[in-house]
Amino acid sequence: MISMETKSSLTFSGQVALVTGASQGIGEAIALDLAKEGWIVVLVDIQPEKLTAVAEKILRSGGRAEVRTADVSRFDQAAAVVEAVVKENQRLDYLVNNAGITRDNLMMRMREEDWDAVLAVNLKGVFNFCRAAVRPMVSRRFGRIVNISSVVGVMGNAGQANYSASKAGVIGLTKSLAREVAGRDVTANCVAPGYIATAMTESLPEAVKKAFLEMIPMKRMGTPQDVAQAVKFLLSDEASYITGQIIHVNGGMYT
Ligand code: NAP
Repeated sequence: MISMETKSSLTFSGQVALVTGASQGIGEAIALDLAKEGWIVVLVDIQPEKLTAVAEKILRSGGRAEVRTADVSRFDQAAAVVEAVVKENQRLDYLVNNAGITRDNLMMRMREEDWDAVLAVNLKGVFNFCRAAVRPMVSRRFGRIVNISSVVGVMGNAGQANYSASKAGVIGLTKSLAREVAGRDVTANCVAPGYIATAMTESLPEAVKKAFLEMIPMKRMGTPQDVAQAVKFLLSDEASYITGQIIHVNGGMYT
């Protein structure tokens, strides 16, 4: 674990937020945004190098960050990260399950390992971190969880049966968890992004990108910041009576 902090004009609240898949794209945008709240942001991803670069950005802007490497699909690693964070800070207030992968193919060509890999990271990874975080949140009678789903988790998408199933699963998991922990002031919600400009979508074939754009009434891709704003709202005091919900951030692509 690398811990970084600096003197700044930010007022630190002592609250702790953990963001998975924080090295780049949407996760990085969320982490940078949450650091501006004066929260300690725990950055989780597989590779330490990219995470450290994000932590340095937070440091330079006057925030605080901790870097912890873990494969979200590993139950033991998720448990160890959350345990260490709670031990170090005596709390975990906010959890954002953002790490995700794609292994696209038509169903008739989809390999078993591509199904397993996507479900392991996108769905079991969310289970692993929620499972680890819920007990300390319930004990302190406060917690805010946001799980990143996807527009294709509700509308489906040819070539993404594994990904769509994982993201639909995240919605079911989140709604169930919300009902279990609502009485302890722990909320769980989803943000479902549409077509967002990140490395994940950059690698799509040009024809697929064009087809996506034609489906968006706002005629543009979303930005990671568009998603981060919705996440920040669901973590805020203003959203304290909202649980088990999905906020769609998709330019009207699915209504
Ligand atoms: P991205 O740029 O590919 O970033 C995903 C991050 O997750 C990467 O830093 C990646 O690390 C990390 N990651 C992957 N597997 C991991 C694992 N097993 N353990 C820990 N970290 C892992 O993707 P993004 O576009 O920002 O997407 C972020 C989330 O939004 C994902 O859940 C995605 O499904 C969802 N989403 C994205 C879009 C979109 O249009 N971009 C739309 C809907 C939903 P490495 O790079 O080191 O593998």
